Amino acid sequence: MKNIAILGSTGSIGTQALEVIEAHPNLFRVELLTCHRNATLIVAQAKKFNPNVVIVTDETIYKKVFNALDPLKIKVYAGIEAVNDAVQMNTIDMVLTALVGYAGLIPTIKAIEAKKPIALANKETLVVAGEIIMKLAETSGVPIFPVDSEHSAIFQCLVGESHNPLEKIILTASGGPFRGKNLDFLESRKKEHALKHPNWVMGAKISIDSATLINKGLEVIEAKWLFGLQTEQIEVIVHPQSIIHSLVQFEDGSMKAQIGLPDMKLPIQYALGYPKRIPSDYPRFNFTDYPNLTFEAPNIEIFKSLQLAYEVCTSGGNHPCILNAANEIAVEAFLHDRIGFLQISEVIEKCLEKVSYLRTPNLEDLVNTDLETRTKANEFIN
Ligand code: NDP
Ligand code: MG
Repeated sequence: MKNIAILGSTGSIGTQALEVIEAHPNLFRVELLTCHRNATLIVAQAKKFNPNVVIVTDETIYKKVFNALDPLKIKVYAGIEAVNDAVQMNTIDMVLTALVGYAGLIPTIKAIEAKKPIALANKETLVVAGEIIMKLAETSGVPIFPVDSEHSAIFQCLVGESHNPLEKIILTASGGPFRGKNLDFLESRKKEHALKHPNWVMGAKISIDSATLINKGLEVIEAKWLFGLQTEQIEVIVHPQSIIHSLVQFEDGSMKAQIGLPDMKLPIQYALGYPKRIPSDYPRFNFTDYPNLTFEAPNIEIFKSLQLAYEVCTSGGNHPCILNAANEIAVEAFLHDRIGFLQISEVIEKCLEKVSYLRTPNLEDLVNTDLETRTKANEFIN
């Protein structure tokens, strides 16, 4: 029996993780749930899963959640500091980081410091501070199991291959809702268009990231740290059907891929259950339903954010942190109709020009870089 902490339980990954847990009550128990401000859903989740602790990071909903859960003897706290403390509880066996954005960074560090195995969905953590996180995980002897479907695919392809260096990996990308479109078309796109992903139903932020293709860029950086690769070893190929979840290539030229229908419950369950594959009744992939699996190069002239992410993956230092913070502010502004779709990459580019480069930032430097970039990005937007 594993006691799981889910950070961001009300989101797309969080709710799917709870479905996995619900289907396997003999394997998993919920110990901690957190959300930002979705009081109704977290109360319903807590009533169903009876965790020891619930935390809301937006303090304005604290009273409502407390009043609903106090009679059930579920402890309720508020604020990100409470999350930082709670992830270290003795009773937690694994922490699933399913909150969105930079907010995941410090809780992940605290969980690793307390030697909790991490099921990592929150890719922004590795984008911002991949080097610090991976070193800390190594010195603490803490495994990080990827939940992101591409990285889970690579992780699965590497089982039993620890003595075989990788030549390269290939991350597949669906291409998002605007695949094949030109700049004129993109200019007029609004949030309602960008939020419609062809293959996956996800949170708003990652849906916009998928439309700009920066999601794939963030994944390139995530893969660099998870698998100890150079940028040149990480290729991106657009595969609109999202059946091949990613591939590895070894030094003999042989390739391995992990394939299946797109369903995030699979990588979530693999991370929670590792090293065991838990039987499931999810729909099975059938080749005859997909006679044409297609592939094309991503268009980095049009989807500039992917190009920028590749550049910061190579330049390193605090550049990925700048890219991430600028993107978070720009996506938020786009979701509020304050900037156009094409301006998202412009904001990122401007921030990369204006915020000073640090080659070997420590955690404090990254926290400051994040703050400074958010201020600059907001100035550009206003
Ligand atoms: P959602 O937006 O659906 O959910 C985000 C969760 O984080 C919610 O529980 C939300 O609470 C909480 N949250 C939001 N803002 C804050 C904050 N400032 N502090 C603390 N908690 C906060 O996101 P997704 O589930 O789509 O994505 C979560 C992470 O997983 C992201 O990093 C994403 O890149 C990654 N990922 C997601 C995939 C997917 O299929 N969705 C696939 C691969 C990776 P509330 O509901 O109360 O606002
Ligand atoms: Mg992914």
